[in-house]
Amino acid sequence: MKYRNTNIFSQILLKKTPCDKVFEDRVVLAFKDIKPKANTHVLVIPKMPVATFSDFCEENTAITVGLFFKKVHEVARFIGVDDGFQMIVNNGEKGQQEVFHLHAHILSDKKPKV
Ligand code: AMP
Repeated sequence: MKYRNTNIFSQILLKKTPCDKVFEDRVVLAFKDIKPKANTHVLVIPKMPVATFSDFCEENTAITVGLFFKKVHEVARFIGVDDGFQMIVNNGEKGQQEVFHLHAHILSDKKPKV
């Protein structure tokens, strides 16, 4: 799928739209979901422009894909929910994806440390 930088997460990365940031490094940005479905609902997005999880896997090495999952775990640890959380990646329109910049949801009943 063609990546469009008009999507809201691209606008957040470009700092044209604010977000409630919880973590950032050179690979990912993590921020609170605007419509939280649990006490912790954080989104982790890679900084590279990629629309879907399928595209991410097709276009990248296992090391890059694995690094993203390591980063999701790092964020979960940073916000204090790594002892148990749901990680959800909606993939494509048929997979309930609404924003077409790859993201992982971190959900937990526990409140985040940050
Ligand atoms: P998905 O269905 O996996 O594409 O999920 C997109 C998520 O992005 C939803 O849970 C939305 O509530 C969330 N969302 C949309 N716009 C924003 C925003 N500006 N800041 C934070 N979260 C957002």
